Amino acid sequence: MSSSDTWQWDVVVVGASFAGAACALAARKAGLRVCVMERKRDPGLKLHTTGILVKEAAEETTLSRIPASLVRRVEGVRLYAPSLRSLYLQAPDYYFLTTDTGNVMRWLADEMQQAGVDLRLMQSFTDAAPVAANSSDTASAPGWQIEGLGRARWLIGADGAKSRVASRTGLGHVRDFLYGIEYEFADACLREPNALHCFISKRYAPGYIGWAAQNPTGVQFGLAFRHRPSRTGVPDIDGLLMEVGDWLGIDKKTRPSATRAGLIPCGGAVTPLAAPGVILTGDAAGIVSPVTAGGIHSAWRHGWMVGEAIARYMHGGEARPEQIAMQAAPHFRSKRLLRWAYDRFQMDWPFDLLLHSPPLRWAAEQVYFHKRGLRSQN
Ligand SMILES: Cc1cc2nc3c(=O)[nH]c(=O)nc-3n(C[C@H](O)[C@H](O)[C@H](O)COP(=O)(O)OP(=O)(O)OC[C@H]3O[C@@H](n4cnc5c(N)ncnc54)[C@H](O)[C@@H]3O)c2cc1C
Repeated sequence: MSSSDTWQWDVVVVGASFAGAACALAARKAGLRVCVMERKRDPGLKLHTTGILVKEAAEETTLSRIPASLVRRVEGVRLYAPSLRSLYLQAPDYYFLTTDTGNVMRWLADEMQQAGVDLRLMQSFTDAAPVAANSSDTASAPGWQIEGLGRARWLIGADGAKSRVASRTGLGHVRDFLYGIEYEFADACLREPNALHCFISKRYAPGYIGWAAQNPTGVQFGLAFRHRPSRTGVPDIDGLLMEVGDWLGIDKKTRPSATRAGLIPCGGAVTPLAAPGVILTGDAAGIVSPVTAGGIHSAWRHGWMVGEAIARYMHGGEARPEQIAMQAAPHFRSKRLLRWAYDRFQMDWPFDLLLHSPPLRWAAEQVYFHKRGLRSQN
C-alpha cells in the first residue's frame, strides 16, 4: 500500500480563519493534499475580530492581495486618557488597514479553493485518534484518524482560543484571556476617520482598551477587558458609547447593525504546542500579543511557517515540523511582563497626568508602531 492509499490527506487543518488559511495555502503551494474543516457555513459570518491589519501583514504576506475595495488605510492613532484628553500619534510610512472583514474571510476561502485546497464548510472537528501507517509505508510515522473525514498524516489545530483539537489531542490550552465585544454601525462615518481611536479607562476597560475605527463599510466600536472567573458579564460597551459617541460622531440612538465578540488569548504560547503529527497555530496556540491583542499577523506568519515546514519534511527534509512550530512561536517575554504589570497596577491618574509627557508618548509609540522613527502631534 502506498503512502497516498494510507493517508487520504497530507494535512488536515481545522479552522478556515487566518492561521488555518495561511497553513493550508503554504502546504498546498508545495503540492500537498490539504483539507480544511470549518464549522461555519459561511466564513464571513459570526465574526469575532475587528480585522485590523498591521502594515507588515498588509505588505509582507498573501494578505497584500486582498482586493482594495475590502480595506481602508488608517494612518494614525488617537489615544484618549480616561479624562478624554487625547494625543494623536503617527509614524512615517506606517499605517493600519481596517477591513470589510466578512468579505475578507470569504476572499480567503476563495483563495484556498482556487489553490486546490478542499475546503469543507459546515464540517466541525469533533475528535481524532492517532493511527500508525502500515509497515511497508516508508513514511511510517503516526498520523490521525479524524472523525467524519478520514486519515491524515498531519492534523493542524487552527480552531481558535478554545481549541477542540488541543483538548482532543492532549496539547496545551489557552488559559489567559481578554474578552472583547464590538458593535458595527453600517454606513456610519467617524468625525475623524483617519485615526484608530483608543480609549484607556480602568472603569470600562480594565486590562485593555476601548476602540473605534472607520472601515470600508461603516464604523466599528469595541471594548475589551481582562477576562477573569470573578468578573461576570460583558464589557459595558453601551456605557462607553454614551460617554464618547458624540465626540466620535456616532449617533448614540443608532442601534448597531451587527455585534462581534470573542475571547483573545493574552498569556503567550501554550505548552505543549505540538506532538507527533499534530500542531497548534494561531489563537489555538496562544500566539497573540499580550499587550495589543493583535493576533492576525502572528497567526498568519506562524500558520504559513507550519505549512511550509510540513511540506519541506514531506519532500525529504529532516527537520521535524513539530520542532519548527514550537521554535517559531513568539515568546512575547517583555509583553507578558507588561501584561502582568497592567493586570495588577493599572490606574487612571498617570494617563490623565502624563498623557503628553515624553515617556508616555514614547511608550505608546512603541506599542502601536513597533519602535519606528516617529513623529507625533497633539
Ligand atoms: C473582539 C476581537 C477583536 C480583535 N481585533 C483584532 C484586530 O483588529 N487585529 C488583530 O490583529 N487581531 C485582532 N483580534 C485577534 C485576532 O482576531 C485573532 O488573533 C485571529 O483571528 C486568530 O486567527 P486564528 O485563525 O488563529 O483563529 P480564529 O480567527 O479564532 O478562527 C478559528 C476558526 O476555527 C473555526 N473552528 C473553531 N472550532 C472548530 C471546530 N471544532 N471545527 C471546525 N472549525 C472550527 C472557527 O469557526 C473559526 O473560523 C481580535 C480578537 C477579538 C476577539
